[in-house]
Amino acid sequence: MVESDQTVEVVVGNEHGLHARPAARLVGLVNSFDAVVTLTDLDTGRGPIDAGSLSMVATLNAQQGHRLRVGASGPQAAEALAAIGKLAAENFGDEPATTAAPDSIGLAATSPGGSGLDVALGPAVVAGAQVDVSGYVASGDEWARLEDAMATVAEELGQLRERSGELGGIFEAHLALLKDRKPLDEIRAAIAAGTPAPVAWKQTYDNLAKTFEGLDDAYQRERAQDVRAVRDRVLRALTGATVDEAADGGILVVPELDAATAATLDAAKVAGIAVRAAGTTGHGVIVARSRGIPLITGIGDVAVPDGATVAFDARTGSFEVAPDEDAVRRTIAERQTERDRAIAEADQPATTVDGRTIAVLVNVGSVQDAVDARGADGSGLVRTEVVFGHRRTAPSIDEQAEQFRAIAQALQGKPITIRTWDIGGDKPLPFLPQDQEPNPFLGERGLRVFRRRPELLRDQLEAVRRVAAETPVHVMFPMVTTADEVAWALDQLDQRGPRPDGLEVGIMVEIPAAALRIDTLAAGLDFVSIGTNDLTQYTTAADRTNTAVAPLADGLDPAVLQLIDNVVRRAGVRVAVCGDLASDSQAAVLLAALGVDELSAVGPQVPLVKERLRRADLRQIDTAAVLAARDAAQVRGLL
Ligand code: PEP
Ligand code: MG
Repeated sequence: MVESDQTVEVVVGNEHGLHARPAARLVGLVNSFDAVVTLTDLDTGRGPIDAGSLSMVATLNAQQGHRLRVGASGPQAAEALAAIGKLAAENFGDEPATTAAPDSIGLAATSPGGSGLDVALGPAVVAGAQVDVSGYVASGDEWARLEDAMATVAEELGQLRERSGELGGIFEAHLALLKDRKPLDEIRAAIAAGTPAPVAWKQTYDNLAKTFEGLDDAYQRERAQDVRAVRDRVLRALTGATVDEAADGGILVVPELDAATAATLDAAKVAGIAVRAAGTTGHGVIVARSRGIPLITGIGDVAVPDGATVAFDARTGSFEVAPDEDAVRRTIAERQTERDRAIAEADQPATTVDGRTIAVLVNVGSVQDAVDARGADGSGLVRTEVVFGHRRTAPSIDEQAEQFRAIAQALQGKPITIRTWDIGGDKPLPFLPQDQEPNPFLGERGLRVFRRRPELLRDQLEAVRRVAAETPVHVMFPMVTTADEVAWALDQLDQRGPRPDGLEVGIMVEIPAAALRIDTLAAGLDFVSIGTNDLTQYTTAADRTNTAVAPLADGLDPAVLQLIDNVVRRAGVRVAVCGDLASDSQAAVLLAALGVDELSAVGPQVPLVKERLRRADLRQIDTAAVLAARDAAQVRGLL
């Protein structure tokens, strides 16, 4: 960049550095002046970069405490510098936590509205695949065509922002990326040199996505998803391809399901989602399920023409193009009757034929999940990092207490199990920056993160203690490996005062080491809760987000079941399962037969799990044979 006439130095005060939202504010301000403004990060030496380009500012990746040299030239250079100095002094517009607005992508699910069935029929809306630009014929004015496509997309994004409630920030960030002048300069030059608009657009946005992927901060790296989403939206507008929001009554066919898509889809409109990738424990899948959207995973490479009628039945694992529509409609009607019956009886206890009563609770990631839950005996897992996943500043103690209280009220004061922040792995939080790690699932995840940030954990525990004084609350710590960690966590809980009466304390069992020495870890606790999603990934050494190894990560693998059996026999305290295995009604019966006391499932499954348990005679289940089975397939056969 050119030398600037005038400079000032500012310091980045924001906890998460100049991330998406403050960067967008800075860029908006810069572009309101007739001046060329540059930024240099004096701590990393990066720059000078164009401060009028969102992608340049965001990928400068200036962290909290970094000093920035701001240079300006042009008629309004002095005014621009004064305004930027003021904005920096105000933390680039990041308000205090109490008034914070949502930032880019968070995981909190919005309104429910899905049918809650496991079967669906409708026209395929094939999305997320590489947009096919092969049929595009370049014309005289490629730039004008691109501008038209961008205007269409801006309109779509504006509408999405309006109807996405608290998740509107996702689309606001997409709008900022769409209008970013730095990539546009590059694209205009490429088009002027004779490159067709889709090729120029794709190349530039591919490179931009790579730049984001190379950043240190996990949250910033995930913004590459946003860049790809904007890239594809414009390519579809250019080529006239269908867009996924048109999926009224359609079945969305996607390569993988990210949590933002799962959270923002109109659940009442979409008939279902078919995911090519296998695996049922990714957070996108969990969010879609909890919203009652019919879903099948692992359909693989099957050819699906856009618009073709397709059907799936997740219970039998079938996915068909051009199915016998009448037969599918009959199945849908049967499942609906079954579901209606289960819902009508949802408030009855889940007492098995042989007289055991299993508590069936609900997993929640939002107050809405708790409001929608039918028949739940409480919440066995409040995913706090999901409840507050859209926040760019850490929620205050009061804000956390308010959400916990609202969840408890929605569940009529039945016990709620608050899990302390479980971040890391595939769950970055905007307000808690984490360094890039070679193996994030084996790195600083869950409780481990807070050894260096205990004050954030203590604030959360304070909110837990306050609410526990008013309503039945259990608290549990995720990603525990050692007895020292348990002792440390309990110490954090007790740092700011005595535990209220009735506050039950537990840990999650997600790591084989914890399952194997559960008697040591559980001594002094009230309960343990088995997270089968992670216990499965760590037992089988199969990353829960990696499609290539998804068939290995099967929660019914006898190795996983043996660990669960060990926990039940040796924990000496109440044993719950809150991983997604508990949402599978067949597996739920097996877990009960193994001796698990409590199950926590995604909302729409709670009535079905209860109904299935009521029909089960646990004495009929040969648990010894199941534990000795050769593999998960044999376990299924035995069930
Ligand atoms: C689990 O690992 O099974 C669990 C319930 O936690 P999460 O899916 O949020 O990692
Ligand atoms: Mg887990």
